[in-house]
Order: sequence, then structure tokens, then C-alpha cells
Amino acid sequence: MDEFALIAEYFAGDAGAVLGIGDDAALVEVPLGQQLAIAVDTLVAGRHFPEATPPEAIGHRALAVNLSDLAAMGATPHWYTLALTLPEAEPTWLAGFSKGLRSLGAAHGCALIGGDTTRGSLTVTVQVMGAVTAPALTRGGACPGDRVFVGGFLGDAVGGLNDAAQGLHSALASRFHYPQPQLALGQALRHVATACIDVSDGFVADLNHVLRASGVGAEIDLESLPLSPELVASVGHEAAQRLALSGGDDYVLCFTVPAEARAACLSACHEVGRITTEPGLRLRDRDGAFIEEVVDGYRHF
Ligand code: ADP
Ligand code: MG
Repeated sequence: MDEFALIAEYFAGDAGAVLGIGDDAALVEVPLGQQLAIAVDTLVAGRHFPEATPPEAIGHRALAVNLSDLAAMGATPHWYTLALTLPEAEPTWLAGFSKGLRSLGAAHGCALIGGDTTRGSLTVTVQVMGAVTAPALTRGGACPGDRVFVGGFLGDAVGGLNDAAQGLHSALASRFHYPQPQLALGQALRHVATACIDVSDGFVADLNHVLRASGVGAEIDLESLPLSPELVASVGHEAAQRLALSGGDDYVLCFTVPAEARAACLSACHEVGRITTEPGLRLRDRDGAFIEEVVDGYRHF
């Protein structure tokens, strides 16, 4: 199959651009008065996902991690491009990859409008573009007294990594394979949250980005971190808490809201702590005592 037949078969056909796949560049119309939000992420086989990962999951993840970045800005996704480096044009692999990628795009009204196809070791780069009415959510607005929330379970994706590497189909492996970007939540938070980030590197690492960008600190209650029953059943309560703190790849939102907005967030999200004037991140155990060493250990991420 030549390059152009491959593009026509697996990647062309989405509507949503003024001019999509087939010319030298795509043309899009940015909604009037809105800002363009742009994010790009590369996934390298063996580094960002195990070699045993199903092609459908690779396609899904490649777009999902980018959509999650737009979710964290409160933006609405519209378009994406795909730079695909492949060792060979294998139809079964391409069909699965294309299905995973494009069904997630369709679910969020995000159209594939261009890309590049080259031969080499498997590497997938997706760039996503969306629009947001200013002001977008950023990492920089958390204030002392704000409450810290997360949008879903922490630690599952890393908890499922072993299963995923062995090609097993468990609930945790599917949390790694099929992260669900929290776009509706991000958009709903636009006039509520003071700061927002998506958890890609791990809760502590990513919350620290918010704290530094905002010039504040936080106290987090270890027992309030949301853990899935599957994760606790798989590794036990203590290891689950550890994965919730340090594990990445969950792609849930972590955000801060003023205390008066707290009640509105409690039905859909989990409150895990509060923002402080004193910089740094401090963890409290179930008795309210600080666990200093653990926090220091996790700060290296
Ligand atoms: P050029 O040589 O001008 O860069 P290409 O031959 O690379 O053009 O691509 C031809 C068309 O196909 C372009 O519109 C490009 O955006 C699109 N395209 C190429 N590879 C992909 C891909 N993997 N997914 C989606 N569109 C692609
Ligand atoms: Mg090209």
C-alpha cells in the first residue's frame, strides 16, 4: 500500500475544516472572538506504552493525552493533526489504530485535518487545536484558602501497567489503555476554578506545577485521595495510596476552587486538600499529622 492510499484508507474523511487532508496545509476558521488553544504530545513505543499495547489503545491514547491538555485549559477541541512514524504499513494494525484514534475524535467533535506519514520505529505525534473564550484556565491562579480537587481515581493507570505490558485485559489495564479526557469538566470549571492541570506525570508532580505557577503551597489529606476498588483489591490500600501520589497517566483534572465553590464540586469530584500561603506540598495522615519524609521523597518526580 503506498503512502497516499494508506492516508485515504485510514485517515481521510473527517469534516470540520475549511480545507482538510489532501492539500499542502489545512485551513480552519477559528470561532470569532475566541483564543486558539494548541497542544502536542509524542508517544514512543516502548517508552510511553508497552510494545504489547493493542493498536486501538495506541490510537486512543495518542489523542486522549492531547485532549486532556485542552480539558485542563477549559478549551473545546476542534481539530487535530497526526504525525505517524511506522515500521511497516500493516493493515490490521492500521485499522485498529485508526479506529481507536478516530472514534475518540468523533466522540468529542474533533476532526483529523492533516498529518505526516513516515517510515521508522513506531512513534505517534498528535497535535490538537481547540478554542476557548478568554480567560482560559491556567496553572497560575490558586490562592490561599482554595480547596484542592481531583476529577477521578488516582493511580489506576500505573496500577494497570503490568497487566498492560503482559497483554492482559483487566479493568486497570483499560484505565491505562483508554484514558477519558475530562473535557466537559474542564469547560464547566472555566468560571469556577482558580487553577487547573491534568494529572499526566503523577498527582504530587502535577500539583507541584500548580503550586509553583501560583506561588502558593498545599496541604493534602492522604486518606482523601480517591482510590478505585480495583486498585485497592489489586495492590492493597497502602500501595494504592503510593500509586495515587506518584503514578502518572491517569489524565484526570486536578484543580483549585475558592472555599465558597466547594459544595458545587463535591457531587462530581473529590476534595483532597487546601491551598496555603506557605510554599511546598505537605501531606497529612488520617490523624492530621504531617508526613514530611514521604512528601520529600515524592518531590523528586
Ligand atoms: P506534503 O508533502 O505537502 O507534506 P504529504 O504527502 O505529507 O504532503 O501529505 C499529503 C496530505 O495528507 C496532506 O494534506 C497531509 O496533511 C495529509 N496526511 C499525511 N499523513 C497523514 C496522516 N498520517 N494523517 C492524516 N493526514 C495525513
Ligand atoms: Mg508531509
